[in-house]
Amino acid sequence: MKAITGVAKPMARFIFITGGVVSSLGKGLASAALGSLLQARGYTVRLRKLDPYLNVDPGTMSPFEHGEVFVTDDGAETDLDLGHYERFTGVPARMTDSVSSGRVYSNVLEKERRGDYLGKTIQVVPHVTNEIKEFISIGEDEVDFMLCEIGGTVGDIEGLPFFEAIRQFSHDKPRGECIFMHLTLLPYLAASGELKTKPTQHSVKELQSIGIAPDVLVCRSEQPIPEKEREKIALFCNVRKEAVVAAYDLKSIYEAPLAYHNEGLDQAVLDAFGIAPAPKPKLDRWHDVYDRIHNTDGEVSVAIVGKYTQLEDAYKSIKEALVHGGMHNRVKVNVNWVDAEVFDKGDAAPHLEGYDAILVPGGFGERGTEGKIKAAQFAREHKVPYLGICLGMQMAVIEAARNVAGVADAGSEEFDHEAGKKRFEPVVYHLKEWVQGNAKVQRKADDDKGGTMRLGSYNASLTEGSNVANVYGTTAIDERHRHRYEVDIKYREQLENAGLKFTGMSPDGRLPEIVEWADHPWFIGVQFHPELKSKPFDPHPLFKDFVRAAKENSRLV
Ligand code: GLN
Repeated sequence: MKAITGVAKPMARFIFITGGVVSSLGKGLASAALGSLLQARGYTVRLRKLDPYLNVDPGTMSPFEHGEVFVTDDGAETDLDLGHYERFTGVPARMTDSVSSGRVYSNVLEKERRGDYLGKTIQVVPHVTNEIKEFISIGEDEVDFMLCEIGGTVGDIEGLPFFEAIRQFSHDKPRGECIFMHLTLLPYLAASGELKTKPTQHSVKELQSIGIAPDVLVCRSEQPIPEKEREKIALFCNVRKEAVVAAYDLKSIYEAPLAYHNEGLDQAVLDAFGIAPAPKPKLDRWHDVYDRIHNTDGEVSVAIVGKYTQLEDAYKSIKEALVHGGMHNRVKVNVNWVDAEVFDKGDAAPHLEGYDAILVPGGFGERGTEGKIKAAQFAREHKVPYLGICLGMQMAVIEAARNVAGVADAGSEEFDHEAGKKRFEPVVYHLKEWVQGNAKVQRKADDDKGGTMRLGSYNASLTEGSNVANVYGTTAIDERHRHRYEVDIKYREQLENAGLKFTGMSPDGRLPEIVEWADHPWFIGVQFHPELKSKPFDPHPLFKDFVRAAKENSRLV
């Protein structure tokens, strides 16, 4: 058998993760948890998402519909499942870890127009499937295991080319280098007190009909799965009994690695590859996480004042980063979703009183921004800890300009662009040229909507002795960005004289990255998205300290 770890160039084994019966079974979470368990056994992993939708990337999809857009260090706008992957494995995702049908077709059509196919008839098989296979194998010599999750459920029309591609892929590889893990649901019929296995059987049949035989079945269930049902699933679905793994509902998603381990998921996967004896797992990290979830000392309540509050997934990483901050401080963080639009015109106080801290997240467009500006004002005046992220920083700057620095009509060019007229003094303006590393990036006003933002990881220099430098414990940071507009340094002096300090700047000193009120216990606005880099076992410094400040504030009353 080929040695896996410790070899200069490992060749990855592939685990394909598919879902059936219903959507939203937690495939992303199961994949992420499995990745973390393989790491606990000493292996290196990379996780990938293949999405059948036709959007080229999720960058232009509504957060109401698709949830948050997760941004990678290398500037890709990806599916939020990549956030799960990073949070569970700590492996920074890359642009090449997320692909959609839209991207695949767009690549194929581009090649066709360039004449790369030398006049051949372009077909789903082999051209589209080859493109998918190529994507799957990127970086296969870098890790021990490559986990590829296929979005959607088996049987979806759009998913077919992906299923066909992974079937071919496993066929092309030597025997034993690819396995298939399938997630299903065992519905519970209260009337008869039974767990039903038929939908699982049908879903596996559907997979088999396209040439894929699952090696491991993960069955979501609200009730314990009786031995007899497990045997039945194994028999009818043609998997080993030990490879029928139960996935029960959990108090916290961060219990998933231990729960899956206890149900035998990682063992079943290693068995399927024939890896024996399996290296022993080191699960200390996850035991510590478990302990921090279950042994808390009090609660804090944080208001997230946003626009996409009907769909919690729209702020997925922020919510998770707050949970991580809570784990660090051993408090339970209660997240309260407050719709900023409700007090766009009215008084914010009745909606914001009583929270231990206020967070204004990122967002696009004018709707709800007057409410967010009022939230920043409320936090400043009442000395409530405030964390402004991206748009949340811009709103804090506009609030400071209007109410403290004497720029009565301060606003963002973003809203004037939308309205097609000039109504505001642009304290926040549309950036068209900036520096990334040593290169200059430019954009025109009429560029496509997709991909015209300052995206991905950028460095910032923090002012020594500032709150934020103390929070980070360093003055050199890099964080991920996703925005078009910037605070204009033209107003720096005026705002700093009013008390709002610019304590983080781009290395060339042109772009404000962080602002903070000097005379406030905890008021920080950041132009980037710190939430994207937070992990349960390594919470982001800003979230650690923000929750600490909330805890302190909660004990004051
Ligand atoms: N809409 C703002 C901009 O484009 C903020 C973006 C964000 O919050 N991610 O600059």
